[in-house]
Amino acid sequence: MNDLKDKNVIITGASQGIGEKIAEQFSNYKSNIFLISRNIKKLNNLKSKLLVNDKIVNCYSGDVTDANQINDIIKDIYNNYNKIDVLINNAGITNDNILATMKYNQWHEVINTNLYGTFNCSKSVVRYMLKQKSGKIINISSIIAEIGNKGQTNYSASKAGIIGFTKSLAKELATRNINVNAINPGFIKTEMTETIINDKEFLNTIPLKKYGSAEDVANLACFLSSEKSNYITGQAINVDGGLAM
Ligand code: NDP
Repeated sequence: MNDLKDKNVIITGASQGIGEKIAEQFSNYKSNIFLISRNIKKLNNLKSKLLVNDKIVNCYSGDVTDANQINDIIKDIYNNYNKIDVLINNAGITNDNILATMKYNQWHEVINTNLYGTFNCSKSVVRYMLKQKSGKIINISSIIAEIGNKGQTNYSASKAGIIGFTKSLAKELATRNINVNAINPGFIKTEMTETIINDKEFLNTIPLKKYGSAEDVANLACFLSSEKSNYITGQAINVDGGLAM
């Protein structure tokens, strides 16, 4: 995917896990990368690993739920680097509880970060993508949006919302040379899934009999950001070892 070279790519939630791996992959393709998450220290550590390719790696401390903060960051990137080729909406959290005992703030926090955060960042970049008449937006949803999960009504609702958002935005932007797609990861080894990953019984429910890696998700994120995916829009693609078949 040589066309990713010199592309300006914004990745939210890049300080660890899937976002970190996505950043590494784009760096391997020699893209310029703009990393956003709340923990600037972690982002700077990642930056020191990535600079080997001598590309632009900028870190921004930003909360995806803060529209003003996100607008300022995106404006700064556009004004200084003239275009925004790719946005990866990856920032996300869980805060699990069965509905009967779920606190109101558990609901709001998860919906706010995962769904409103995706809306915020997309809204902010779309004005520039429309101006430049090109762009790719990739939203990280989850297979839990499709199959549900006990204790995750908040999370599954936020991720199902992202799929609906993706399809509607893809239709809005289809004639403007802007593609919008979602990725539904299955169970990927990261901090988010640490407790589930040790559950052997659960492993047996995955047809490929193994958990995914952050790299598996990053591979698809790069493909959907490249020109090789120009005829794909409005899709939610599973990377789940066959779990949601
Ligand atoms: P991690 O918990 O390892 O990382 C989450 C990232 O999101 C961190 O970099 C965190 O950084 C950032 N983040 C959280 N809240 C905010 C916020 N308000 N503003 C900005 N950044 C934020 O999770 P994963 O890497 O496992 O998950 C990444 C994405 O993939 C999420 O959207 C998740 O829902 C999705 N996913 C993951 C699966 C898995 O199995 N791991 C399966 C399906 C989907 P910081 O704290 O510095 O802000």
